[in-house]
Amino acid sequence: MSDQLNYNMEVIKVEKSRINDVDFNNLSFGKIFSDHMLICTYKNGAWNAPKIVPYQSLTLDPSTKIFHYGQAIFEGLKAYKDSNNDVFLFRPDENCKRLNISAKRMAIPELPEAYFMDGLKALLQVDKDWIPTQDGSSLYVRPFIFASGRGFHASPSDEYTFIIATAPSGPYFSGKVTVLIEEHYSRSANGGVGYAKAAGNYAGQFYPTQLAVEKGYNQVIWTDDNTHEYIEEAGAMNIFIRINDTLITSPTSDRILDGVTRKSIIDIAKSEGIPVDVRKITVSEVIEAANNGTLKEIFGAGTAAVVSPISGFGFKNKDYILPELENPYANKLKKRITDIQTNKAEDAFGWRVKV
Ligand code: PMP
Repeated sequence: MSDQLNYNMEVIKVEKSRINDVDFNNLSFGKIFSDHMLICTYKNGAWNAPKIVPYQSLTLDPSTKIFHYGQAIFEGLKAYKDSNNDVFLFRPDENCKRLNISAKRMAIPELPEAYFMDGLKALLQVDKDWIPTQDGSSLYVRPFIFASGRGFHASPSDEYTFIIATAPSGPYFSGKVTVLIEEHYSRSANGGVGYAKAAGNYAGQFYPTQLAVEKGYNQVIWTDDNTHEYIEEAGAMNIFIRINDTLITSPTSDRILDGVTRKSIIDIAKSEGIPVDVRKITVSEVIEAANNGTLKEIFGAGTAAVVSPISGFGFKNKDYILPELENPYANKLKKRITDIQTNKAEDAFGWRVKV
């Protein structure tokens, strides 16, 4: 079946939906994919209009540049459905902007904003039934662009493919995590691509993370590549550290991703009267605070887990345990942000976008 939706976008629908095969009460994260995807290609110097097609495998020539030079970027956001069956996105314009920031750094032609925003909304209308409503669940949305041109020459591709795929997902990780402060490996460097959501950034994290897991930790705390003294990110999340009553988070830089959750948490915390300090913070300061009892909380912030409390960390063969607080900032901030995202609370910031 083929029909027209918003903005004359071509929509080719599946003949038979797979939705009845899905157990929406037992969803894991990002493992099942909805019926449709958006696809848009760049050829002869221009992005072609996106279309919606059945979710499907791709056939790629072995010389396709993504395989050799890793020219690929992605985004991650979530769609929510409230009790009235209304669909919402959270600050999708920020993901669109960041996709193009990443594109520029990776020599990928920037995508017209309307293709991203209108394409995303149209896709969500087509696959609306795939948006879970269970607590903590959402439709995880994965927009990405990869070099789909061919050839072994190490140069930017002349063809690209932009896809949005979606996955009904349960909560990312519910337990508390322990982390290892990294002293040797780096996620990113000055002048590098850390601020971009470049695919290779994640591949580069896997090995150091595996080493940390072998030592019994769940994740790595990334420090700066030069001195390993400054705390920068927690796995694939931004990091917040509470010392006494103040919430501290590193300023974004060449090396740190400008997370949508991070900037939203900063605004929410300030509106709750929580003192927020956006400044560099050293490992020594955190160790000292842990030793003198002023270190109260550490948590990661990112779209997938939203707010992920850290229960302890390791540094130089020593483990430090965070206190169990009765009313941690992490819980309060997570509730505020998810209530805004899911249309359970007033959105004083104007972040929620109805689809
Ligand atoms: N840092 C890194 C390295 C990430 O991959 C992510 C996830 N996108 C984040 C931080 C958090 O960003 P956001 O809140 O926009 O998901």
